[in-house]
Amino acid sequence: MDNEKVNFIYEEINQDLQEGKNNKKILTRFPPEPNGYLHIGHAKSICLNFGIAKYYNAECNLRFDDTNPAKEEVEYIDSIKEDIEWLGFKWANQPKFASDYFEQLYLWAEKLIKNDKAYVCEHTPEEIAAQKGTPTQPGTESKYRNRPFDESLELFRRMRKGEFKDGEKILRAKIDMASPNMHMRDPIMYRILHQVHHRTGDKWCIYPMYDYTHGQSDFIEGITHSICTLEFEVHRPLYNWFLEQILEGEPQPEVKPRQIEFARLNLNYTVMSKRKLLELVQKGVVQSWDDPRMPTISGLRRRGYTPESIKMFADRVGVAKRDNVIDIALLEYCAREDLNRTAKRVNAVLDPIKLIITNYPENKTEMLETVNNPEDESAGTREVPFSRELYIERDDFMEDPPKKFFRLGPGRETRLKSAYIIKCEDYKKDEEGNITEIYCTYDPETKSGMPQSNRKVKGTLHWVSAKHAIDAEVKLYDRLFMDPEPDGHKDKEFKEFLNPESLKILKGCKLEPQLGSAKPLDNFQFQRIGYFCADKESTKEHLIFNKTVGLRDSWSKKSKKQ
Ligand code: ATP
Ligand code: MG
Repeated sequence: MDNEKVNFIYEEINQDLQEGKNNKKILTRFPPEPNGYLHIGHAKSICLNFGIAKYYNAECNLRFDDTNPAKEEVEYIDSIKEDIEWLGFKWANQPKFASDYFEQLYLWAEKLIKNDKAYVCEHTPEEIAAQKGTPTQPGTESKYRNRPFDESLELFRRMRKGEFKDGEKILRAKIDMASPNMHMRDPIMYRILHQVHHRTGDKWCIYPMYDYTHGQSDFIEGITHSICTLEFEVHRPLYNWFLEQILEGEPQPEVKPRQIEFARLNLNYTVMSKRKLLELVQKGVVQSWDDPRMPTISGLRRRGYTPESIKMFADRVGVAKRDNVIDIALLEYCAREDLNRTAKRVNAVLDPIKLIITNYPENKTEMLETVNNPEDESAGTREVPFSRELYIERDDFMEDPPKKFFRLGPGRETRLKSAYIIKCEDYKKDEEGNITEIYCTYDPETKSGMPQSNRKVKGTLHWVSAKHAIDAEVKLYDRLFMDPEPDGHKDKEFKEFLNPESLKILKGCKLEPQLGSAKPLDNFQFQRIGYFCADKESTKEHLIFNKTVGLRDSWSKKSKKQ
């Protein structure tokens, strides 16, 4: 196992194996609620649950936790499956749904009622809240708490039949209103909701609560280790209590699930709650769930992140028992690390200015060999066309450059990548003083790769041949929020910290001809600029590229300047 992967959860599992628990079986699960797209936090949980399964040569279930009829949508289910598969993980058999267990959960609820461990309560939500007490003060018992169990049973059956309105009655576990753990103070097991469910239709008008559903679903599936985030630590006694009740009077089962908690991933400059992400989509702050500025897995994919970079990130972040905040620069670093190894180097001029080589023949085109990836010899070489008229980046030329500027300026020499050394002889301006053309001469003796070409100059520029170049739209992204903790302010809403410059669209960028055949999501390094990928909507007729990350961490420079 990688060193980075060793964490306390593996230690716990090893111990369970040693003790021969669960007949030495391992089965994990990833249990998303289908009420939004998955985000990078979920990716951490996916890597952990599927990673454990892989390590122990076991399996991991995908279970949709669809107990909430109002919120779930098929679009979310499809996107969740797509994202997990894209990350490279395979769930065991078919995806599972908590709603598949509604009948069994109902039967167990009847068992609890018959054993005097649950009762139908008729207080209003306000009354129940008032009776709950505080962490330091015990709650007050419901006046329905001690009604005969057969009365509760009859009412519960009538609840199922639809004889009552929403909120009129609930089923509560009968535990302890004085427990120091608020979750043990007669928690709600079922509520009435006259709503159609995306899978069970109108079969049910009572729906089980998360706490009652989750552990029992784990048990039904034979999950051995139910790994969840820290906020569920205080729910663990309830998780175990429900299991105990449903197993009451039964022989000891072969597999009994165990809940283990770990710290959720928090990223600075990011909001991660699905509710907030949904708000960004609904209010049109971003274009969609997969907008490349979103921390969703689909957004990161569209931005150019690879599954490897996300898995590398999950490994680096590790699994801790205490909450912490990870610097988003680490995620960007992982993208750079992976893309540096794999992305083809290409030439793209984002802010083009024409450069004319006055001593180069007018109709000549030369094909010059260039390496595809200096980090990966097996990526080979390709030929790029060179001719008299080229485009270079506007900011690679200065009329009056300082000494340390190793690019072009009047009378200065520089190398064109994989081509020749050129010298700037003159330039032209329009009426407003904008430079429109640069005139250079080239030295035919300095062709890259030729034995006589070892004359050295400082600075190498990227370029594209004007008549061969293709046009593209390029989208530059910056962080969506300007504040490291956008949802950490009491008096301000997270949306107040949106970065107004998170998206910049450049049109008329000039790319080397090969990029015309780029397929959606193909990754490239635009030399000297950064990593880019073809957008999922990019076509031959309308090329669109998204910037993934720069070659360096530009934010660390910014914050040093401040
Ligand atoms: P959110 O709060 O973003 O809406 P959630 O916890 O309600 O997320 P679920 O769909 O219930 O979302 O999550 C599925 C699984 O992913 C759960 O096991 C949950 O613990 C885990 N998970 C969710 N967010 C994170 C996170 N930031 N870091 C690690 N795991 C997470
Ligand atoms: Mg949840």
